[in-house]
Amino acid sequence: MAKPMHDTPMLDQLESGPWPSFVTGLKRLANDNDMMVDLMGQLETSYETRKGYWKGGTVGVIGYGGGVIPRFTELKDENDKALYPEAAEFHTLRIMPPPGMHYDTNTIRKFCDIWEEHGSGLIAFHGQSGDIMFQGCTTDKVQPAFDELNEMGFDMGGAGPAVRTGMSCVGAARCEQSCFDEGRTMRTLVNNALDDLHRPALPYKMKYKVSGCPNDCMNSIQRADFATIGTWRDDMKVDQVEVKNYVETRGRKYIIDNVITRCPTQALSLNDDDTLDVDNKNCVRCMHCINVMTKALSPGDDKGVSILIGGKRTLKIGDLMGTVIVPFHKLETDEDFEWLEELATEVLDFFAENALEHERTGEMIERIGLTNFLEGIGIEIDPNMIERPRMNPYVRTDDWDEEAAKWNERQAAQ
Ligand code: SF4
Repeated sequence: MAKPMHDTPMLDQLESGPWPSFVTGLKRLANDNDMMVDLMGQLETSYETRKGYWKGGTVGVIGYGGGVIPRFTELKDENDKALYPEAAEFHTLRIMPPPGMHYDTNTIRKFCDIWEEHGSGLIAFHGQSGDIMFQGCTTDKVQPAFDELNEMGFDMGGAGPAVRTGMSCVGAARCEQSCFDEGRTMRTLVNNALDDLHRPALPYKMKYKVSGCPNDCMNSIQRADFATIGTWRDDMKVDQVEVKNYVETRGRKYIIDNVITRCPTQALSLNDDDTLDVDNKNCVRCMHCINVMTKALSPGDDKGVSILIGGKRTLKIGDLMGTVIVPFHKLETDEDFEWLEELATEVLDFFAENALEHERTGEMIERIGLTNFLEGIGIEIDPNMIERPRMNPYVRTDDWDEEAAKWNERQAAQ
């Protein structure tokens, strides 16, 4: 039997809206869990005073320098005794999820059992960092909880100035638009940077995200320092019979209004006989038409990846989208994956040595210039590298002819 609940009039209000409330979940856990009872007491105090009362500290597991987010209460009485003693230590374990965040029920049940035994029972799938957040654990239970999760095959995620938890879409396992082996790619990238993931020693965070097609379900363009995104370089596949079926079912007006006119580069045209023409040279692989007419259209056969560097949310200079540094590369053979590993190492090393403290890759590139960055990691300039599609090629137009000539030579030599 848990200790009696604290009065929580402000938290109770959050249950009165039309949507399921996290407060209901906390109360359910608090039925037989003193830690959750006191957590709600502390939370209610925060709502009343509009202040947070958690401070950090140092808590970890053996062999790792990060991955645990320490939380110690600051709500103490005059004798320095915690006002909510059962929740005085409420640490979070960041655990790296599988690609696409897909689990079987057995795994989730085991997670729940482990966390009910060692922690508060409160698990967030998933935190903003992409991790499974096992929230609410005392310092002495952190190691045994992690050991059991580790035994299941799960590893600690990143925290602090380190390589962060890698993220990948579920890819070929469940998605027909997949353009490469996403699982292997994420594993390659993460394993290659394991030391920097578990022992924070970088200027700031470094995120790898892997999206199997240009839909970019992992939001890697906006969020990842190192984004690997699937694409294709031959022609999109068109099944004209399915196009005709589609036109028959939805009508020409629907197709014209919702597919043809919404192509950002006007690369589509619907013929009088209800077949579809694609101007592949002008298609920028935005995926819109493929997403709408899934049966009729699909990515081409010559698939590979684009690599973009420097995406991030706010901080010093506002949001940045990743910049294409490798427009296309195949990712199929062992050699291709070795190439990816080498490139990732170059980028990571350059970032470690050249970024200022608390500076993301995107900001570093803005500061030192993209050309210097490319030289630093040993990548040749390619006119296909773009910062903002069709708006602002970073290759200066006064050198354009020379660069284009060099590129043509390289193409001819391949
Ligand atoms: Fe146009 Fe996007 Fe379809 Fe390419 S993928 S043809 S850019 S709508």
